[in-house]
Amino acid sequence: MKHSTDRAGTLAHKEWIPGQCLCGTVRFEIKFPARWAWHDHSRHSARAHGASPVTYVGSWTKRFRLLSGEESVDRFRQEDQEATRHFCLDCGTPVYYTRDKSPHMVNIPRALFEESVGREPRYHIRFHDRPEWSYGGEPLKALKNYPSVMQGRPKKRQKNPFEEE
Ligand SMILES: [Zn+2]
Repeated sequence: MKHSTDRAGTLAHKEWIPGQCLCGTVRFEIKFPARWAWHDHSRHSARAHGASPVTYVGSWTKRFRLLSGEESVDRFRQEDQEATRHFCLDCGTPVYYTRDKSPHMVNIPRALFEESVGREPRYHIRFHDRPEWSYGGEPLKALKNYPSVMQGRPKKRQKNPFEEE
């Protein structure tokens, strides 16, 4: 987080926090701080992003504004989830999604912000739903000769209860 110090010597932060898609066409900002942040382990978000979990930031819609690229934002209506997912037509980045039952909230991938949004993602939504391949905090060790690669241990296979001893 970038801090600046005002004349009184207290910490100040920017009032609006910028975010953008991968190509930079879609730019937006939310008012600091965000309402909340969480890790979404649902299969729907995993498919929409090609990753799991997806970390989101929730903002009140009145504290969210698109700055540029509105004409490059398209949407996918997910009827069974009563949700609308918005993405950049130029680079494909999912930029935000909304739910019918929470019309005053907009949910934005945390990764689209470089700076602090004022909320840590301390909640895990649909944790029980997470794919078996997602990383769950297991111990890691450095992979020899590959300084940027960490390696986990193989997961213990569950014993097949129908297999004879
Ligand atoms: Zn883009």
